[in-house]
Amino acid sequence: MAFFPANSSFPSILGELYSAAFNGPAFNWICSPVVTELETVMMDWMAKAVGLPDAFLSKGEGGGVIQGSASEAIIVVMVAARERVLRRAVERSGLNEGGSEAEAVVDGLRGGKLVALGSDQSHSSTQKAAIIAGTKFRTVPTKREDNFAMRGSTLKRVLHECKEEGLTPYYVTVTLGSTSTCAVDNFEEIVEVIKDWPDLWVHVDAAFAGAALVCPEYQYLTKSFVHFDSYNFNMHKWLLTNFDASCLYVRKRSDLTSSLSITPSYLRNTFSDSGLVTDYRDWQLPLGRRFRSLKIWFVLRSYGLEGLQKYIRGHIKRGELFHSLVLSRPDLFSVFVPPAFALTVITLVPRRKGRKRRTTSDGQSDPERERYLNDFTPDADAQALLDANRVTKEVYERVNKSGEVYLTGAMIAGVYCIRVVSASPWAEQKYVKRCFEILVREAEAVFEEKEGKGQVEDANNVVNG
Ligand code: PLP
Repeated sequence: MAFFPANSSFPSILGELYSAAFNGPAFNWICSPVVTELETVMMDWMAKAVGLPDAFLSKGEGGGVIQGSASEAIIVVMVAARERVLRRAVERSGLNEGGSEAEAVVDGLRGGKLVALGSDQSHSSTQKAAIIAGTKFRTVPTKREDNFAMRGSTLKRVLHECKEEGLTPYYVTVTLGSTSTCAVDNFEEIVEVIKDWPDLWVHVDAAFAGAALVCPEYQYLTKSFVHFDSYNFNMHKWLLTNFDASCLYVRKRSDLTSSLSITPSYLRNTFSDSGLVTDYRDWQLPLGRRFRSLKIWFVLRSYGLEGLQKYIRGHIKRGELFHSLVLSRPDLFSVFVPPAFALTVITLVPRRKGRKRRTTSDGQSDPERERYLNDFTPDADAQALLDANRVTKEVYERVNKSGEVYLTGAMIAGVYCIRVVSASPWAEQKYVKRCFEILVREAEAVFEEKEGKGQVEDANNVVNG
């Protein structure tokens, strides 16, 4: 229940075995038409299953391709974004492509002017991709009061700051389900901002939470995607498909092929030259590729869409159960941000001498009122945070040391948190309850030890409502 899961299933394993047996590095359509054709069909099936706009389907200008991981998908689209902005700069200059003057325009931009963006909650893969793409990287700050979502106004400010510095923003990762808290960026606000930045490639990273979009109740999230350039989610995280099966979609496949297609004579053939077939080698980093769509086909045919929806909803329900258990002990725990996509993020509530605790009528902690009751100075606030961080870390370490359950700790905006994910196939209801019992046991033990040592002298004074 620590990391986002790496799901698998017997149908998927069978698909993987068949793929291994075929052993075809099917880089071109002509190498193995079936590898290409099934992948196109599976990517379209999945695009429809998660409610992507039609613009991402292969029947139009878009399409999907299986990558090894979300990080790899980000590298691919970032390189495509970089090449697109360079191409457009040459086009706008009116110079002859390939000429020395056009080359100078490209060199001028490449030479430290291009900048990729992501929020401070984006996965580290965006920064890593910027290193690989050889461009700068800047973060867009988020706030806890926005549940760590990237806001349009902040993105706009950072874009302008970049411009004032003489930089050209060419790429931004927006996130649907961030790693630390499953934050979802404010897509509608972002759409408004990017209207003024037509060269900015917007990629949606939904590595984990994107799987939940097989449930129609989450598909409202894709409404804005028709304005974005690419989208990615991992079937190998939360859709019963073993590693690796990362689905990348682009709205305009020519953005990929114009950047990544190089055709030496030995790769030329009449089918590719006709322009009527897909060569997925031009949609990815390596040349060779495995028959990964086979396992997606096995999973979809075995579980059906309804089976996948049931699977996801079961996990989300168990996340809600865990959340309700946490709320039942406001004397021990506080929920850091509202739970999302089967992830609950909690902190411990430290006991402090003579401190009056305040909870709302539904049992949530009420830090604003507590501050008032306790007349905290800014230094006391800082001390309270340190106390909370220390005790949360201690409980977290004790839980993991117990060996019965494994959780992850994360430092988010200066607050030490414990992340509990109920999206593993084995995170049954009884284990979710057991996980909570262990957290309670260790939290109480930590407080008892502290009280024994005289570190907490007065009982908490809790005021409800
Ligand atoms: N993006 C997000 C939001 C993630 O949570 C993760 C990993 O958990 C990644 C990207 C990287 O995923 P991958 O291992 O597929 O590269």
